[in-house]
Amino acid sequence: MAEDVEIDGSRGEGGGQILRTSLALSIITQRPLRMTRIRAGRARPGLQRQHLACVEAAARLCSAQTHGAELGSQTLEFVPSIGYADHVTIDIGSAGSTTLVVQTILVPAIAASVPLRATIIGGTHNPLAPPFEFLERVFVPQLRAMGADVTLTLVKHGVMPKGGGEVQLETAGKTQLRRLELTKAGEIGSRRATVILARIPTHVADRELAVVRERLGKVESEIRDLRGGPANVLMVEIDRGTARELVTEHGEKGTRAELVATRACDDIERYLASGAPVGEHLADQLLLPMAVAGAGRFRTLAPLSLHATTNIATIGAFLDVPIRVEPAATTVDVIVGQG
Ligand code: AMP
Repeated sequence: MAEDVEIDGSRGEGGGQILRTSLALSIITQRPLRMTRIRAGRARPGLQRQHLACVEAAARLCSAQTHGAELGSQTLEFVPSIGYADHVTIDIGSAGSTTLVVQTILVPAIAASVPLRATIIGGTHNPLAPPFEFLERVFVPQLRAMGADVTLTLVKHGVMPKGGGEVQLETAGKTQLRRLELTKAGEIGSRRATVILARIPTHVADRELAVVRERLGKVESEIRDLRGGPANVLMVEIDRGTARELVTEHGEKGTRAELVATRACDDIERYLASGAPVGEHLADQLLLPMAVAGAGRFRTLAPLSLHATTNIATIGAFLDVPIRVEPAATTVDVIVGQG
């Protein structure tokens, strides 16, 4: 068995992502993981339900043995095996994020080159996690450009507080991830705005879309009226040919619809002004597949997020693939392996 890897879960960003990246890399490298101080600096430290769903999904994917996979635990041992499952079903049992479970198992499933069909039940549009559309329209297209055969399906929306949504993930076997270069943004193509309303009046969507049109010009728009909630989510997407960006704002009681839309437009304008193809969240998410491919490079907004720098450090604990960061004025180039 390959050498164990010890990770201090409180390092860097110190949240759920260091756990998910470590689980993914433990499966990919088949190196047992010992994690300590998991989310030690957080208000509710240790593994919460959301994180346990990720551990469970990772363990099911590769028939791993685990110790410490309990609510509130700050220590986890995870011993992977090559006994890969071809079917995994995870019901988070709350509005816990389905997309963060996808983030845990997707790259390991691709790297293992085994066909997987996963069904994940929970929240599909949660704050502090990628909305389903971010994975489907921003992240997965880049995995396809790297050679992966991935299909993600939104079977049912799930919003706070109840969740109950469903996401399906399918990967085909036999994939060798290849190098990807994403340094040039193409012409600005289509712009889209999607508003999710769940027990929220329609005028909220109309006011949000009015601000988006005033700030960004012509946009294709869609309003989805759902049960559950109350919840309001605004997603604004820009296509730049080589890459897309999709920013998300969640409406809250006491925050005017105009402010929700203004925040989303500010983020999109910052992205467009930088001229970089890769937005903040895609940057931290691309690091793992690029490191598994062994080479790649991308340009993103400066400064790199703490999620991205923490991912770089975590990858360095498992893989012998150097990652270089070259800052310029408003952008940063990230060079993985030989670039
Ligand atoms: P953590 O905060 O450690 O649980 O990690 C959150 C993960 O979700 C990171 O990979 C973030 O890039 C990603 N994420 C959070 N918010 C968004 C968003 N609005 N759009 C896309 N990805 C997001």
